Amino acid sequence: MKRYSVFAVAREALRHRLGWDRAWADPVPKPRYDAIIVGAGGHGLAAAYYLGRNHGIRNVAILEKGWLGGGNTGRNTTIIRSNYLQDPSAAIYEKSRSLYETLSQDLNFNVMFSPRGVMMLAQTQHEIRGYKRTAQANALQGVDTEYIGPERVKELCPIIQIGGPRYPVLGALWQARGGTARHDAVAWGYARACSDMGMDIIQQCEVTGVTQADGRVTGVATTRGDIACDKLGIVVAGHSGVLAQMAGFRLPIESLCLQALVSEPIKPCMDVVVMANTVHGYMSQSDKGEMVIGGGTDGFNNYTQRGSFHHIEETVRALVETFPMISRLKMLRQWGGIVDMTGDRSPIISRTPLGGCFVNCGWGTGGFKAIPGSGWAMAELMAKGEPGPLAAAFGMDRFRAGRFIDESVAAGVAH
Ligand SMILES: Cc1cc2nc3c(=O)[nH]c(=O)nc-3n(C[C@H](O)[C@H](O)[C@H](O)COP(=O)(O)OP(=O)(O)OC[C@H]3O[C@@H](n4cnc5c(N)ncnc54)[C@H](O)[C@@H]3O)c2cc1C
Repeated sequence: MKRYSVFAVAREALRHRLGWDRAWADPVPKPRYDAIIVGAGGHGLAAAYYLGRNHGIRNVAILEKGWLGGGNTGRNTTIIRSNYLQDPSAAIYEKSRSLYETLSQDLNFNVMFSPRGVMMLAQTQHEIRGYKRTAQANALQGVDTEYIGPERVKELCPIIQIGGPRYPVLGALWQARGGTARHDAVAWGYARACSDMGMDIIQQCEVTGVTQADGRVTGVATTRGDIACDKLGIVVAGHSGVLAQMAGFRLPIESLCLQALVSEPIKPCMDVVVMANTVHGYMSQSDKGEMVIGGGTDGFNNYTQRGSFHHIEETVRALVETFPMISRLKMLRQWGGIVDMTGDRSPIISRTPLGGCFVNCGWGTGGFKAIPGSGWAMAELMAKGEPGPLAAAFGMDRFRAGRFIDESVAAGVAH
């Protein structure tokens, strides 16, 4: 595949852009692969990429029932940070954040990583204590965060109303190298790199069954025929429970719709990401100028990818308190995605009761930031059959053993 570079762009501009290759191939499924990954979201594509790059396993298919990146990967509000509380979480999220720093160069695809800084507002005494504790834990974990006072919050984000009306801003947990990236580009960049390594990305190919013999996976049934494999990775976010049922085991996952909305584009007014967990809303400004706003999850399990109207109302109300200027903005569109929630709000990267079958799920409301680190850890697990240091704590047996990795504060419903 031709490398993208400033010279290539200039050359193609001169010859009417006729020399570009397709970004990824559109192959017909082969009868057999060494490894199949179900789900061409960011996590599935990243797992495939690191299987090829780090472990030399390239006879791989990534099967996607819709279009690649059309699940939560293309529906999220793109916040990237690693200020979690527990050691295993800080390790995988920080690995991921650090991979984001050079992802555009690694993939030769501009993922528009923008480390503009993320602040999580403290609006109650309880949050002050919680965030100071996280900042101290992060210092021990080597994650660069700090607790800042309200004056510094106002300096970093002048459009915030510090004084109330319901909850004044008392401070914030600040991660200067957190930020955002372009979600579609992350999926497209990994897809292009996978295709370049000879892997098959097969879209419009729904997995409808998992075949097995003697306690081991032998392949999958799909809407485009049966495909055999030695190893299977299930990476389907909100549909993890459905795939687990096909493979014959249960997962402690609930599927909920999480929603977001964007405003009309306006001139640059905010160059950091702000999360306000008490009033519940978070916001950043996209490169196009739209205010990108994240809301909450529905209070009931579902697969609708739509969201509920009362959440829009609650989210906008919360943000108008924090940023009064948005009361004059028109909202352009709203959407939902099906997130996969575990009880301890931490992911599962694990072997399963079915030999050769591995699962990566439970990223819930906050897995975009984890895509590179999760892919790295999942690839290691699939290649070696054993979890490496990044994934070791995230096995599904922790729910039976009671070894929870409680991140309900760091994950909240926000990110
Ligand atoms: C509104 C919203 C806002 C969010 N904001 C943030 C944020 O700011 N920061 C953050 O870090 N995270 C955020 N998230 C969470 C993040 O988007 C997800 O955790 C992450 O994208 C999950 O990626 P994935 O690859 O696991 O899943 P997905 O991108 O959903 O990919 C799974 C794929 O599996 C496919 N699939 C399902 N069943 C089958 C089948 N039977 N056969 C074949 N394919 C199948 C689906 O079509 C889908 O494409 C947000 C999520 C939402 C919905």
